[in-house]
Amino acid sequence: MSGLLIVGASQAGVQLACSARELGWDRPVTIIGAEPHPPYARPSLSKAFLKSNAASLELRSAEFYAEHDIELVLGEAVTELRSDAVITASGRRLGFERLALATGSRPRRLPIDGAELPGVHVLRGLDDAQALRAELERAPEVVVIGGGFVGLEVAGTAAALGCRVVVLEAGPALMGRAVGSATAEFVRRAHERSGIEVRTGALPQRIVGGDRVAGVELADGTRFRASLVVVGVGVEPVDELARGAGLKCDNGVVVDEFSVTSDGRTLAVGDCANLPDPSPVPGPSSRLRLESVDNAVEQARAAATTLVGDPRPYRGVPWFWSEQPSAKLQIAGLAATSDEEVVRPALREGQQTVLRYRDGVLVAAECVNAPAEFLAARRAIAGGAQLSADTARLPGKLKDLLAART
Ligand SMILES: Cc1cc2nc3c(=O)[nH]c(=O)nc-3n(C[C@H](O)[C@H](O)[C@H](O)COP(=O)(O)OP(=O)(O)OC[C@H]3O[C@@H](n4cnc5c(N)ncnc54)[C@H](O)[C@@H]3O)c2cc1C
Repeated sequence: MSGLLIVGASQAGVQLACSARELGWDRPVTIIGAEPHPPYARPSLSKAFLKSNAASLELRSAEFYAEHDIELVLGEAVTELRSDAVITASGRRLGFERLALATGSRPRRLPIDGAELPGVHVLRGLDDAQALRAELERAPEVVVIGGGFVGLEVAGTAAALGCRVVVLEAGPALMGRAVGSATAEFVRRAHERSGIEVRTGALPQRIVGGDRVAGVELADGTRFRASLVVVGVGVEPVDELARGAGLKCDNGVVVDEFSVTSDGRTLAVGDCANLPDPSPVPGPSSRLRLESVDNAVEQARAAATTLVGDPRPYRGVPWFWSEQPSAKLQIAGLAATSDEEVVRPALREGQQTVLRYRDGVLVAAECVNAPAEFLAARRAIAGGAQLSADTARLPGKLKDLLAART
């Protein structure tokens, strides 16, 4: 029997195991994962790894798990949760004292004809990335459906590999759920400069082809030729195990600020969890699901304190990064909850910082190629700095404007 059994061997699950050990959890720890690979980090799958296959993805070395007495059970999907054990697809039963769900999310499917044709890809795991990489090498024309982070990163990588790339986004702007119009426009121009065609308001109606994908047709009849299609239309939480066990779910496994689910004992962390907004100034929609490495790591760290009987609520400024063609984007806070944006005077060419306010309070920042501005903004949001929108419009470094306020 495991003291702590974690379902999901990825960013959040591994962090929970590591943090529990750091905090003195001394009973057995087992992580069980459906994928056959040792736990790896996903971000590079749409970036360096997709380009060269060379980037290292490993979250921790094999020696690390051995040294910390963390058992990995890989290639085994859990199919059922019971009160003191889980059952796997191969019929194994693993008992536990404490259970944590870190089952992540999966790509949303596109409900249109042709979405299952050979040559149509999604990108979530290592196997997806390897399959996509193998085909990208000989795909002259790539259509990416969905102008969110993953779709855009794949578009940038495909263009860098010499493919002709079209991005089709149904909404009025790129990355519509995560950033405002100024940042979206900046990133769009960066893509267009690298030769990518970006179409917003473009609603794919069907994917066409015979033995293999040949193109994408829009609702207005426009057709784009495609030797490869990548669908990146967002993800949905993997919460069916939790639902099957009667845990409360609503766009993910519902947890409290200590990452405890509705049964008062099971934990849920990472992409699969629906949690109270951890921001210093929570937004109006007080609960959300976060899909980022930062959240997987920080929520798991906080959840480990629950396990060792010294529960600390999960608090922090959520942050996210993305690498687009010639544009490193960093976001702090939650843009969706803001009501005013300030585009700061550029410090230099190729850089942009947007600060976002809600009721006059700084709640989020979107920085492109501006790591120092990002750090200053993130600290300011975390510390509740009173930087008015008028001050933010002044030229100069954000760090200096903030220092002048104190
Ligand atoms: C291509 C790509 C690029 C990304 N880029 C960035 C980035 O630049 N910056 C950033 O902050 N975030 C990025 N992300 C998001 C980030 O990787 C995720 O937020 C993070 O991986 C979430 O970790 P997780 O452990 O909660 O879930 P996941 O990483 O989804 O892992 C969940 C694991 O649980 C396993 N599992 C599910 N159900 C079961 C079951 N029944 N039994 C056993 N195992 C199960 C799954 O197989 C999976 O391995 C990216 C994601 C992708 C896919």
